[in-house]
Amino acid sequence: MHLFDRVSGLNILLDEVKVPAEQVSRAPRYLSVALTNTCELRCAYCYAPKHAAVLDTGRVVAWAAELDGAGCLGIGFGGGEPTAHPRFAQLCAQIAAATSMAVTFTTHGHRLTPQLADILRGAVHFSRLSVDGVGATYERLRRRPFAAVLAAAALLRSVAPFGVNVVVNADTIGELDQLAEFAADAGASELLLLPEQPTAATSGISDRDAERLVRWVQTARPQVRLAISRSGLEGSVPAVETIPGEQPLDAHMHVDATGVLRPHAYASVGTPIEDFIMDAVQALREAA
Ligand code: SF4
Repeated sequence: MHLFDRVSGLNILLDEVKVPAEQVSRAPRYLSVALTNTCELRCAYCYAPKHAAVLDTGRVVAWAAELDGAGCLGIGFGGGEPTAHPRFAQLCAQIAAATSMAVTFTTHGHRLTPQLADILRGAVHFSRLSVDGVGATYERLRRRPFAAVLAAAALLRSVAPFGVNVVVNADTIGELDQLAEFAADAGASELLLLPEQPTAATSGISDRDAERLVRWVQTARPQVRLAISRSGLEGSVPAVETIPGEQPLDAHMHVDATGVLRPHAYASVGTPIEDFIMDAVQALREAA
């Protein structure tokens, strides 16, 4: 049995309680949704498709209600840049009000304003700020001033607890200490390490940098909690298994900006969502 409080983020697992099979959640524990492919930044390692696509607000709200009823605990918006979706704030507010799920999002932070933060307060339970490198490295990769990220971190902190994401590659591997320090100083509760994945434009993290990352995780003593994405490296670092024995499709699924349900954001195959998202969830499970 899994109890979850979306405000504090507290999870309680009771493995002494035997849950009848018909009561086991049919939904994934967490759904990520690419609201739009739009993003004004041009990061070389970006995996988001570049063709124009944006999800309809009504569809996303209906999926959220369905998933909530089927036991999903959280919905996380990304993209592209989710704050570029024309009804991003209203969507978060509607889902937070209509479901018991945690509402989260990942952002580059450059569209945040005090007005947007005001609307999101109470409608979002956790956010993630993408910070690839510090200072000049960040500015070279993202072509935006690093000072703007500091301002974005302060705004996110005023909304809800937040974490810092970093794509780990040849440019950022040498700055993990500074990134952990940045995250702690900014008041983040977590530093999420995202080893760069291969895309059409990049080859992904090198073996040498992957080894450096593993060594850093084993020896670093950061002031924030560390997390690592499912990237093949999680088995090489001392990571806690969130739910022992949990299958990947029970943990997470992803909807892209065209409304196709996929096992994860990098998956090349998926199931178009027709009338009900739970039909697509079932189809994805059967195809696995
Ligand atoms: S900020 Fe994110 S979505 Fe935008 S280009 Fe960079 S990696 Fe892609």
